[in-house]
Amino acid sequence: MSTTTTSPAISQELADEFNPFLAMAKRFEIAADHLDLDAGIRDVLRTPARELQVAVPVLMDDKTTRVYTGYRVQHNFVLGPCKGGIRFSPDVNLDEVRALAAWMTWKCSVVGLPFGGGKGGVICDPREMSPGELERLTRRYTANIMDILGPDRDVPAPDVNTNEQTMAWIMDTYSMHMRSTQTAVVTGKPLTLGGSLGRREATGRGVMLSAREALKRLGLRPEDTKVVVQGSGNVGGIGAMLMHREGYTITSLSDMYGAIYNEKGLDVPAVLEYLAENKRLTGFPDAEEVPNDKQLELQCDVLVPAAVENAITSQNVDRIKAKLIVEGANGPTTYSADKILDERGVMVVPDILANAGGVTVSYFEWVQDRMGYFWTEEIVNSRLEQIMVKAFDEVDEVARKYESSLRIGAYIHAIDRVATVYRLRGTFA
Ligand code: NAD
Repeated sequence: MSTTTTSPAISQELADEFNPFLAMAKRFEIAADHLDLDAGIRDVLRTPARELQVAVPVLMDDKTTRVYTGYRVQHNFVLGPCKGGIRFSPDVNLDEVRALAAWMTWKCSVVGLPFGGGKGGVICDPREMSPGELERLTRRYTANIMDILGPDRDVPAPDVNTNEQTMAWIMDTYSMHMRSTQTAVVTGKPLTLGGSLGRREATGRGVMLSAREALKRLGLRPEDTKVVVQGSGNVGGIGAMLMHREGYTITSLSDMYGAIYNEKGLDVPAVLEYLAENKRLTGFPDAEEVPNDKQLELQCDVLVPAAVENAITSQNVDRIKAKLIVEGANGPTTYSADKILDERGVMVVPDILANAGGVTVSYFEWVQDRMGYFWTEEIVNSRLEQIMVKAFDEVDEVARKYESSLRIGAYIHAIDRVATVYRLRGTFA
């Protein structure tokens, strides 16, 4: 019997590789070195501006009271109100919320939005809670972080296990306290409550546009391009559908139970219909089944990781065959894997650029709410395209100038913008 054990040193190394805050911090330092940022500005930009931890008592259906822990981190509000999602999950922790808040600062900056970065979370397991318990949790969490929320201060959005309904409860709780309807306090709301057309598809659309711009640089046409997509939810499913419509061959899609593969290309609308009916992809006719870990290693031109963090790591990077990786998910490639991909000349469109379509249309939602005037879906989509293409061009130019990867180019571009505005505003005393 083989008794392979992992030495503590190796497992610490892997734990560090998978730590989202360290991943963000390492890329920040490289970009800051390129920009020759002084120590003071570095400190300002890497330190979260505000971290709030709240106790959230909830009356449960069985009349007992439980206390949940909630967080809201505002990483930086130099460019404008903080923007970022709220997640409900048993795994939420302050380190993760901090990293995600900082990512939001760079993401908003890279696409030129007048927003800073924030993120929130509550440690809870929504699968074990009734709708009533979830509503009470959401409302009390909102009331407890209200001092730092507001259309001009901090504007949350949905994230893991929160949705349009959660945003409606947050909007209502805030509005009840303010004694007036304040739709612009959150984005990702239902359409009838000040949501924006095109918001649901926005992240997938941004992924499709990023892939298109990158493939132009690689000289590949959609009809000659095979694409593997990890995940088939809001980002992966919609991204795959839009790429399929543009003429790309989507050979594989996955969900948490497994992946399906057809070398000649999947009929993506039929796959998504099958998924909606059966709640899983496996069993879809006209495709082979592939285990999830093998899916990323399939032969393809483009790989779109659009499901989970840390999908491409030092453990599997050598077997990845794609020429282009477009990061639909947040943090799907670890820092160690990044270095290897860079050495191999694999182009990676980084998460802070590739999945910024969602926050861009969230910005449009906030603008529309504040105007009280709503745009057509065509206007939303064409403004999104303008912003994504401009951001891609700018990042590409910065990456060429600094002879860096697109990821470091995106960080340089984003950090430079925040640092420039910080210097102009000066240090308040
Ligand atoms: P989602 O819940 O709609 O979909 C997630 C998909 O991933 C599902 O199909 C699920 O079955 C699948 N999945 C889960 N574990 C998997 C695994 N181990 N292997 C393969 N597939 C697996 O979530 P989403 O909104 O599509 O978000 C996906 C990622 O994109 C997350 O990292 C999220 O933070 C990021 N993101 C989302 C948005 C947005 O607007 N929805 C914006 C920016 C970034």
